[in-house]
Amino acid sequence: MTRLVDDADFVVIGTGAGGATAARVLSAAGHSVIMVEEGPSLGKQARARGLLDAMSQSVRDFATVATEGIAPIPLLQGRCVGGSTAINSGIIWRTPADVRLAWRRDYGLDDLVGPGLDRAFDVIEEELGVATVESSVMGGNGHLMAHAADLLGLPGRPMRRNVPGCRGRARCLQGCPEGARQSMDVAYVPRALESGARLHTLCRARRVLFRGSRATGVEGVALDACTRKPIGKFRFSAHRAVILAAGAIHTPLLLLQSGLRRNVGDGFQAHPGVAVLGRFREQVGMGYGASQAYEVPLRDRDMKLESISLPPELLATRIPGAGATWQQNLARLNHFAQWCAIIRMETRGRVRRGLFGGPRVHYRPTHRDVERLKQAASLLARMLLTAGAEEVYPGISGVRSVMTEAAQADEILAAPLRQRDFHLMASHHFASAKASNDARHGVVAPDLGVHGAQGLYVMDASALPSNMGVNPQHTIMGVVMQAAERLAS
Ligand SMILES: Cc1cc2nc3c(=O)[nH]c(=O)nc-3n(C[C@H](O)[C@H](O)[C@H](O)COP(=O)(O)OP(=O)(O)OC[C@H]3O[C@@H](n4cnc5c(N)ncnc54)[C@H](O)[C@@H]3O)c2cc1C
Repeated sequence: MTRLVDDADFVVIGTGAGGATAARVLSAAGHSVIMVEEGPSLGKQARARGLLDAMSQSVRDFATVATEGIAPIPLLQGRCVGGSTAINSGIIWRTPADVRLAWRRDYGLDDLVGPGLDRAFDVIEEELGVATVESSVMGGNGHLMAHAADLLGLPGRPMRRNVPGCRGRARCLQGCPEGARQSMDVAYVPRALESGARLHTLCRARRVLFRGSRATGVEGVALDACTRKPIGKFRFSAHRAVILAAGAIHTPLLLLQSGLRRNVGDGFQAHPGVAVLGRFREQVGMGYGASQAYEVPLRDRDMKLESISLPPELLATRIPGAGATWQQNLARLNHFAQWCAIIRMETRGRVRRGLFGGPRVHYRPTHRDVERLKQAASLLARMLLTAGAEEVYPGISGVRSVMTEAAQADEILAAPLRQRDFHLMASHHFASAKASNDARHGVVAPDLGVHGAQGLYVMDASALPSNMGVNPQHTIMGVVMQAAERLAS
């Protein structure tokens, strides 16, 4: 077995929203930085064109990681350079004022969410070319949602995204064919490399090394590019600090594997999402337009509605019917629109280490969370029917599978539904190594340093103390940018 050895001032585990931002700031300040990434580096040319191949390259375990229980919720995560930002839709949202207030009040994060956060947002938005989706790339799916929001008087708007020059190929999940999306593999990882950082891909960190309570480095295994089986070992030493940024599911695992237990994995939150499909008489053309283009934020209802275009391979799996009916629907693939709702669920779960070392995520939505799901699905069905859908397919067990009149959307509200009746998916994860100024309630302090350890930091979604009801990438980057700047100086 080969043994890879390297050392630097800082060793950063993970190259997603948090890790790439930390590496970019620390290397620009003149520090030596090693970035460690379990997945491969996928340039524009290296990314597969077909959906299934693209997913097996870049999505962790082909999206089969899920919560425990009789109705598992898939937990979608990127596993490649850029992390989840390399498969996301590039939607950018500043942290809402009420969330900032709660984080100051309940967790003492005054510095992280104070005026410095707005300054960090300004820098990031400038560097990632954040702009509002132009009408020319809204696509039929986005335009129809805007029409529905107008008719029902809902507060909708085109999204803000980090995709300057988006050509509306609707292929964010597979990897932008133009490289227009400023995901971390395109934006901050290359910047860090230009400033002298080194990147070790296909290296899975297993545990943090300590001298006393000081973190001194990381060890793990090097993986074969095809089989993902271990082919060697590595040991990377950190003169100043180790930064964990493996995402909210894997950072707690690394902490647990390194012997840190207090509060680790507790309080995990998410934004599970539900999607509703509608078929229109006229062509919608989901294959053209930004993958996600239009949104209706309903913060007082803990939900955010979004247009979401699916690649044809995935859309076909959602089409109802069998035999000739299914074939007829398949022939009309271009007539479908799909909108989703992400729910700010109140429930808190926990992340633990499973039998074979992978994550075990316990997460059970509350009664209130399920009510929110019902309200969101009902509203989406009503919107589609109001916008002129001939048929709407809620995809929920226990309610009619095809709706043709707006009034039928109320049946979702009246039905005695449980979580298992919905097909959910969660791509926003939070709070599994919470920041708090009180060590009794958090894993990291407001500077994102692990309570009780020296030279060990958590700089990713795990450190955010709660979910927010809006897309998280920008908040993760803004919070990490400030913490990394303080560490750099
Ligand atoms: C399909 C999808 C769409 C999304 N759309 C949006 C959107 O439009 N807007 C938005 O704001 N948010 C979106 N999100 C969420 C957003 O991308 C994430 O919240 C954000 O990227 C999380 O950042 P992170 O640094 O915590 O983790 P990640 O970005 O997931 O990065 C973690 C990295 O760590 C690596 N890693 C894990 N374990 C190890 C290990 N042991 N050793 C080495 N490396 C390891 C992983 O491979 C990964 O590259 C989306 C997410 C998904 C999955």
